[in-house]
Amino acid sequence: MQELIQQIKQLEELSNQLEVSEFERENTLKQVSAYTNQFINQLPVVKAFNEASKPSCGLEINNIKKSLHQLLEIYQKEVVEKGIIAASGGHLGYIPGGGIFNASIADFLAAVTNPYAGIFYASPGAVTIENEVIDWLKKVFDFPKSAVGNLASGGSISNLIALTAARDKHQIKNEKITKSVIYLSVQVHHCIQKALRIIGLEDVIIRYVELDEKHKMKIDVLEQLVENDKANNLNPFLVVASAGTTDTGAIDPLDEIATITKKNKLWFHVDAAYGGFFILTSKKALFKGIEKADSLVIDPHKGMFLPYGLGAVLIKDKEAVFHSNHYLANYMQDAQNDDLSYSPANVSPELTKHFRGLRLWLPLQLHGIEPFVACLEEKLLLTTYFRKKLVEMGFNVGPTPDLSVSYFWYPFKENENEQNKLLIDAIHKDGSVFLSSSIINEKFVIRMAILSFRTKLSTIDRALTMIKSSLEKYKKELFKTR
Ligand SMILES: *Cc1c(COP(=O)(O)O)cnc(C)c1O
Repeated sequence: MQELIQQIKQLEELSNQLEVSEFERENTLKQVSAYTNQFINQLPVVKAFNEASKPSCGLEINNIKKSLHQLLEIYQKEVVEKGIIAASGGHLGYIPGGGIFNASIADFLAAVTNPYAGIFYASPGAVTIENEVIDWLKKVFDFPKSAVGNLASGGSISNLIALTAARDKHQIKNEKITKSVIYLSVQVHHCIQKALRIIGLEDVIIRYVELDEKHKMKIDVLEQLVENDKANNLNPFLVVASAGTTDTGAIDPLDEIATITKKNKLWFHVDAAYGGFFILTSKKALFKGIEKADSLVIDPHKGMFLPYGLGAVLIKDKEAVFHSNHYLANYMQDAQNDDLSYSPANVSPELTKHFRGLRLWLPLQLHGIEPFVACLEEKLLLTTYFRKKLVEMGFNVGPTPDLSVSYFWYPFKENENEQNKLLIDAIHKDGSVFLSSSIINEKFVIRMAILSFRTKLSTIDRALTMIKSSLEKYKKELFKTR
């Protein structure tokens, strides 16, 4: 016994290092605070993109202790200064968001206090905050209080949860799979196709519904497809619409789609990961019908400007969700709760989870909703401004966007696609703002996605100056080679 106690005490000396002293904590916080202040203060002047050809080095774990000071230096050089600076307002590629500071503080508080947010019994407070955030989202999108929801890591997992519920509601399994039909737009986010494979629906029939010139689903085509499939003894069960496609920001005609899905008893899913929060703006009318969806996905790490790591799903049919996600294990018996929808673990594949609700709850409580809405309206106007200026510079632009994603290309006289590709290469080399590219109707285009809370009028002016000089430099080089 004495020896056992001796051994434990010896180990304690080492293991105690994990509980750092108040003095060390103060010191750590001071260093991190200085570092983060410097990082944020420099954002307006540093590049938004640094082309990195090699992976970062010096990050391996080798059991040689380093000081926080050293590690912050390595982090700055090898992580922060490489690739896309996603926190920068100059990030106008893919779908940016920025990452508001108070959400990072919420993450810090959640991590230090570490409540167990998966099960109500374990942390009624944390789970209530998760559910308050979900209830707020239900109000924003006019979903009934009886709907269930979950705060997941992002849009991909949120879509996965929704599509699984659609599958289970319609009992798409066994021989039914190859006869069942799903209707998508070609502009749907690829996480939908991924999710279908993951949930065993790889072999369903997918109909890509033709789009109109504004990249929205043609409603008469959808209706005709469903009718044909029914007449051919197939099993249509799901329509996936987008409220803000990733490539062009288009919102499908949700209200009309809802009429078709209702009439034909199909599950109506809306992926609003990017566009959803614009329902809070002057664009509200475009979202008419979203409240009729059976399931809905929204990404607060896009339209609420949070740091990466928060997507949300709302689903009206609880039972369909519980079918896959609720399970009783003996070791969980203390946690049984009458209202299943109360515990996040019953609505998600996750059991233990990061307490994500706090990162939206705290900023909303601190700032109120107005600055968020103003920020979204600002992005819409900046998009209009950017497009107007590009046209003045001789660029062609895509159709007037519903939201804040659009595209443009320079009308080179020959080899338009290849030359626009070279132009984006020049833009990436410059890096003062970051834009991405895409292929739309076989045309190589430069995409702009304005959604970071840090993107301001001055950012767009910087982008315009950079595009202009890239174009000029590029034209000169082209001239030289001829
Ligand atoms: C971003 C996005 C997704 C994927 O979401 P993640 O958070 O990246 O997993 C899905 N759908 C749309 C429309 C998106 O814009």
